[in-house]
Amino acid sequence: MAEKTDSVMAGSSFTEKSSNGASDQQQANSDQLIRFLLPDSHSRGVIMRATEIFKQANRIHGLNGHITQLFDQTLLASILLLSISKGGTRQVLQLNAAATAPVKKILSEARQGQVRAYIDWADDQTMLQQHDHAKLSSWLGSPIRLSTVRDLGFGQPYVSSIEHTSDFLADHLIHYLNQSVQIKADIILHGDLAIMIEAMPGCDDEHWFKSVECMAKIPNSALENDSLETLLAYFDSLHIKQASTDMYSYHCDCSSKKMMRALCSLSSDDLSSLAGATGDITTSCQYCKSHHVINLEQIQQGQQLPKPT
Ligand SMILES: [Zn+2]
Repeated sequence: MAEKTDSVMAGSSFTEKSSNGASDQQQANSDQLIRFLLPDSHSRGVIMRATEIFKQANRIHGLNGHITQLFDQTLLASILLLSISKGGTRQVLQLNAAATAPVKKILSEARQGQVRAYIDWADDQTMLQQHDHAKLSSWLGSPIRLSTVRDLGFGQPYVSSIEHTSDFLADHLIHYLNQSVQIKADIILHGDLAIMIEAMPGCDDEHWFKSVECMAKIPNSALENDSLETLLAYFDSLHIKQASTDMYSYHCDCSSKKMMRALCSLSSDDLSSLAGATGDITTSCQYCKSHHVINLEQIQQGQQLPKPT
């Protein structure tokens, strides 16, 4: 990925894990992801309905209309990618407009149990938030560049970038998985529901057809309303076995301390121009809209210290 995805205002150039477990409140705002195996067709999959995550994201970002669905499904998609990343601790999914478009980029970052995202509007396009464009291309133009960062928690993260033309986010993901990760996959993104199936070793064309056929038989009304358990029953003919489950919530672990560390990389001229008469710099987190006030002197003291590794 050519461009750095994080900025100081995004407060996002951190790779630390949240030190504490999920609080009770987080648990209540969580959605369940279920992994499953399809032994008869040498495939496996994940299913998730992100009702609570979407509620939180929409409350924080105040989006309206079809852009809401695109934004929310990008959150869900980053969780899907994390769920198949072996040993991955962080998965970033970024959708970039290749040409001039109302939205410059949507970036979502999933970690174990948590996800957060922000939208980067093209200048003066924020008023379009109220408009009701139905198509992906009407927000991000066409083609769209999909970039990913897969962080295994050690060494350099894997970064990847690929362009594709489609009005469906699921198509972009399938194209990325086929071309960049060499994974044969099929994905449904429908409202707040995601189902992804993936071919395992030993899955030939006939096996794969069976998996895809089961998924294709699920009617839209079921995708919209049915519980995960009911939806998984559509795979019964392949002797579906449920494997592990994970809980995810919309969560941002930004803090004044982290914001300060990000600001430490700026020159003292830049810092002075950011600081008001009081000597304070107010930063806003693009993921959760929290404000953090940081004193210029504290940053300058921080710059004297060795950089955290
Ligand atoms: Zn935040």
